[in-house]
Parts: sequence; structure tokens; C-alpha cells
Amino acid sequence: MVRVRFAPSPTGPLHIGGVRTALYNYLFARQNGGKMILRIEDTDQTRFVPGAEQYIIEALDWLGIEFDEGVHLGGPFGPYRQSDRKPMYRQYAEQLIRDGWAYYAFDKPEALEAKRKEFEAQKKTFQYDCNTRMQMENSLSLGMEEAQRRIDAGEPYVVRFQFPDNIDITVHDMIRGDVTMNSRLLDDKVLFKSDGMPTYHLANIVDDHTMEITHVIRGEEWLPSAPLHVMLYKAFGWEDTMPRFAHLPLLLKPEGNGKLSKRDGDRLGFPVFPLEWHDPKSGEVSSGYREQGYLPHAVVNMLALMGWNPGTEQEIMTMDELIKLFNVEHISKNGAKFNLDKAKWFQHEYFQMLSDEAVADMLQKELDARGITASRDYVVKVAGMMKERITFPSELWDTCCYFFAAPTEYNEKDVAKRWTPDMHIHMAKVIEILNTVPFEHDAIHKALLDDYIAANGLNTGKVMNSLRIAVVGRTVGPDMITLILTIGKEETIRRVERAIEKLKIN
Ligand code: GLU
Repeated sequence: MVRVRFAPSPTGPLHIGGVRTALYNYLFARQNGGKMILRIEDTDQTRFVPGAEQYIIEALDWLGIEFDEGVHLGGPFGPYRQSDRKPMYRQYAEQLIRDGWAYYAFDKPEALEAKRKEFEAQKKTFQYDCNTRMQMENSLSLGMEEAQRRIDAGEPYVVRFQFPDNIDITVHDMIRGDVTMNSRLLDDKVLFKSDGMPTYHLANIVDDHTMEITHVIRGEEWLPSAPLHVMLYKAFGWEDTMPRFAHLPLLLKPEGNGKLSKRDGDRLGFPVFPLEWHDPKSGEVSSGYREQGYLPHAVVNMLALMGWNPGTEQEIMTMDELIKLFNVEHISKNGAKFNLDKAKWFQHEYFQMLSDEAVADMLQKELDARGITASRDYVVKVAGMMKERITFPSELWDTCCYFFAAPTEYNEKDVAKRWTPDMHIHMAKVIEILNTVPFEHDAIHKALLDDYIAANGLNTGKVMNSLRIAVVGRTVGPDMITLILTIGKEETIRRVERAIEKLKIN
């Protein structure tokens, strides 16, 4: 049974890269008929941010990334928040000490700093490891008896992992293949603190083991920690059930140099967070995909393809298709550049898949906000007609307003370019035509474009665009005759009369 987990730390809003990690875990779980778990890794209380956990849950829910067990759902392996699991970690730290895989260390911050300086003076970098640990204050250098005496006396301590000297540790990564590192390069990481809190490394391994996690799919930034994690499984005697690892490529800046950061989003005008985030400390607001009007599946589809492809050219995929097509073999080893145009392209594609009714609902909200009434049929018709011009709901009103309200002003540039002094004569003629010919496309087209404009050698662009200025206020919009037919004869005539009056001075 496949069991995967998404294990964010509630240190702020969930970065879009974290969303992708959650998505890949979800696709993998669903594809294999497995379970998807949400575990909150909040052992570092100094970095805890109120509201972050709720934000993570809300964001993933919005995107349709579902969990089977987790902090918000409960389940047979709970609790799912590490701070709620606190009492269970100590025994594991003690087990490692008993078995010679870890030791107590008492070094004060000042002592560590002094060591660092001492090494720096010799142009070396200090690392707490097999070469230096005997020079430090720990249960290896002081002896277990002295260590116990200090602990009993209430002296603060940490528990550090004791890497064996000079061994090669291999991580079998599903994306990168075998990654080997020598233990001499690794420092004796802190696993446990005297306040009873484990660090990320210990809690992560204990939880993955006790929650029976089979695959760890996470960001590449955790690859350097993976040799320690592999060693911890060995030290605990859990090698047989050690999960398989897959480290996902980074999401890069649009230019491709470096990891996508919050600042890039601000700089280039796109969100790096799924939902808007109000920082509880600074009050700073960071924009979110949801609030910018992105459709959740447009975001999911875009993210799915940042670092993975189905092996074909197919780009638009439903969640079910993603679940079917996803495979770890097609995850790229290279970082994936963020591309705003592509994000907008997905959004436009998915906006087009909305029903006319759904777009009409959005449009109705704009009308309600402005106190404008219109029949449902009319709103649906306009929504269907204008949908293809729209990417974000925020564009709806500007794109559709003239179907519901006569222009209150006329674009000066358009007027200067098109509305020549003779125009009021031609517009009067338009009114006459509308009043006399049958109110349908072909009849209006023939009377206006053939029998009047062409027959009199007039400039079609000028006359038709002037008519557009009169009806719309500027030279945008769908086919002019379709527009007239949609807003109706009386309304069109009223608008043309008004334009003649207002623009006469030209
Ligand atoms: N808590 C870690 C994070 O915030 C999880 C890393 C992992 O998945 O092992 O990314």
C-alpha cells in the first residue's frame, strides 16, 4: 500500500513550489490507489507563524488536492501535528544514544562561536563531526557519567547524531539515481533538544516510519539531508521499510537563474502563493492566484507541467488525466523556469471551458455591484459571446460593459482619428437605415455597407468605427452588426443620436 505525505512547516504562506510538491504526492498516491497524508512539521517553534497551517489546508483544498489522513481529518496514525506528538520522540533519541549512534552535547552558543572563529583564523570551516567532536563538550569527550551528572543538574543539552568516520552513504533517488556522499562531509546534526523537542530530522524520520510512509517526494533542497536520513533508518534498524526517495527539481526564476522567490513575484507581477496572504507580523499582503482570479485547475495544470511532462505534447489535462499519466520517470532533473505567459495561457484555456452560464454568474455579480438589471438570457448571451476575449474575471466588466450601459464618454484618440466633420450625416443615415430595413444581419449589412458606404465611395473603416464609437465609446468589440442586433434597435438608435449631439463640434 502506497502511503505518501506532504509535510509542510507552518512558517508562512505555502510557496507555489510547495504546492507542486503536494500535487505530485497527490497524483502519485491516487495513481497507486494509496493514501495521502498531511503532516504539520512544527518542531521549530521559533519559526511558527499563526494562521499558516490553516492557510495550507485552505490552499490545497481550493486546488482540489485531497488528503486521506491529516491534521485536519484525523486518521489511524495521528496525531498529525508534530508538536502534538512531542512526548513520543524522546525515547527514539535515547535509543540512538544507547546504541552508540548519538551523544549528548553541552556546548554553549559562545563556545561554538569561538570554535568557528578559531577555525576561520586558520582559513578553515568548523564542522561538528568525527574530527572535531572530541574537542567539544559532549558525552563522548566527557564520559557518560559526567554527562548524566550535568543533565541531572539541569544543564541544557542537545542530542547529536554520531556519523561513523569515512563511510560512503548512498541515497537511491527515484529521479536522480544513486547519490553518494562520504560521512566526512557531513556534520553531527542536532536531533533533539533539552526542551523535549526533536529537530526536523529526528521527527521527520520517526514520523515517516511510524506513519508507514512508503515514498518521500519532496523538494531538491532536502537532498543534502537525505544521507543523514538514510543513516537514521539504519541506526534505528528500520532499513527494510525505509521509504523510497524522490527529490523534485527546483522552481526557478523566469530568467532561470536561481530559485523562485517571493520577491520575484512582486518584481514581475505574478503571485508565488496560491492564496492571498496577510502577514500577521508585518501586515504585508502578498498576492494569491485565487484572488487574482485564476481558476484552481489552471494553476494545477500549469504546476503539473513545471518539472514533469506526460511524454507527449499534451498540455491540457484534467485531474483524472494527470493521475493516469503521472510518472516519476518523466520528472526532470533540471529546475523548471516559471513562465507567466504560460500561466496566463492555461488560465485562458480553462476560462474558455467554463459554461456560458458560469461566466454569466460572474458577470451578474458585476451587474449587481453596479445596480444594473438585465434578463438572465441576455446576460448568458453576452457571456457566451465575449468569453473568448477574457482571461481573468476582473476583465469581465470592462470587456462587456457596453452591452449593459451606453457610453458616458468617447475615447478621444479614436474620435480624433475616425469622427470626421461629415460623420453626423453618415450617422443620421445609419439611424434611417435601422428604422427602415428589417432588423436582421443580412439586411442591415446590405443596406449599410453595400448600398450606402460602398455605393457612395465612403471609407468603410471610418464610418463603421465611428458607429462603434457611438455605440461602444471606443473602437473595440465584436462584429458591429452582431453588436447592434444584440443591444437592440432602439438602444442603438438612442446611442447614435446621443453621439451625434455630443460629437457635433468635431
Ligand atoms: N517540513 C519539511 C518542509 O517544510 C518537509 C521536508 C520533507 O518532506 O521531508 O519542507
